[in-house]
Amino acid sequence: MKVARFYAPGDIRVEEAPEPVTGPGEIKIRVRNCSTCGTDAKIQKHGHHHIKPPRVMGHEIAGEVVEAVDAGEWAPGDRVQVIAAIPCGTCGECRRGRMTVCPNQESMGYHYDGGFAEYMTIPAKVLAVDGVNRVPDGIGFAEASVAEPLACVLNGQELARVGEGDDVVIMGSGPIGCLHVRLARARGAARVFLVDINAGRLEMAAGLVHPDAAVHGEDVVEQVLKLTDGRGADVVITAAASGAAQEQALQMAARQGRISFFGGLPKDNPIIRCDSNLVHYRELTIVGANGSSPAHNARALGLIADGSVPVADLITHRLPLAEVLEGIDIVSRGEAIKVTIEP
Ligand SMILES: [Zn+2]
Ligand SMILES: [Zn+2]
Repeated sequence: MKVARFYAPGDIRVEEAPEPVTGPGEIKIRVRNCSTCGTDAKIQKHGHHHIKPPRVMGHEIAGEVVEAVDAGEWAPGDRVQVIAAIPCGTCGECRRGRMTVCPNQESMGYHYDGGFAEYMTIPAKVLAVDGVNRVPDGIGFAEASVAEPLACVLNGQELARVGEGDDVVIMGSGPIGCLHVRLARARGAARVFLVDINAGRLEMAAGLVHPDAAVHGEDVVEQVLKLTDGRGADVVITAAASGAAQEQALQMAARQGRISFFGGLPKDNPIIRCDSNLVHYRELTIVGANGSSPAHNARALGLIADGSVPVADLITHRLPLAEVLEGIDIVSRGEAIKVTIEP
């Protein structure tokens, strides 16, 4: 079968590999869609400390079960979506239901071979934490593969308590930003404003997800304050690896506002300037977000299936596995919303 393996930064190879053997408690799937995201572009450029090469990449996975060995309810023919982040299920955090911050977390495509392959096995530990979801009738594998990033977005908006009547600012108009706009609407936000420094990408995203305003320029803080009659936004979510965006987010939050540092910063430059008195007097809440739990994946798939968060129109490119490098380049250049690979 064909796979796309990471060997080193700048060295991802599409090559032949033997089909994986299904172990006890595992399922094997025929991968139908594995979508790409900014993380794949990051791995392509810089590698990742959790990836020991060679490793089949790809973590936004949907496919069809072809073999199940003592794997409970699963049987050949089942259409499934698979989690990316695998919590251990047994540590103190997992037992408290905080699976997104499990210190033993592993990931598909990092610690285990991922979905840029015709076939892959799903480790028993994924099944043990309910990490495989049945894809509801009526949605395709490509849409189902977007449940993983949407699950992360759902975790972020739960932590930032996005809800009824909120004015919400999303900074960053990539695929994650677009999902944030759609989910905020589904959760009852009053108005959603989309901000980006890249005018072209912002225009493309705004054309799809129709924010109440698309904000661009040097003075984004002033523009948001103007749009909100000087109050600022109830929630500001940074969906960009930008310290400047995080600093602006603090400036444009309303009193008692919540700020989600959804996107992480580069490892070598994670320090920002924060006016502590702003946080103190305005009673701001700053929250993080680290991936998603198996339960978030199940609920995200439900939101896609019931039409609360449509994603089909966000999938702008469908490419065969042989063109995965081109797909990752398209993501890097910011020319796509969602690129999905169809192995
Ligand atoms: Zn991803
Ligand atoms: Zn754990």
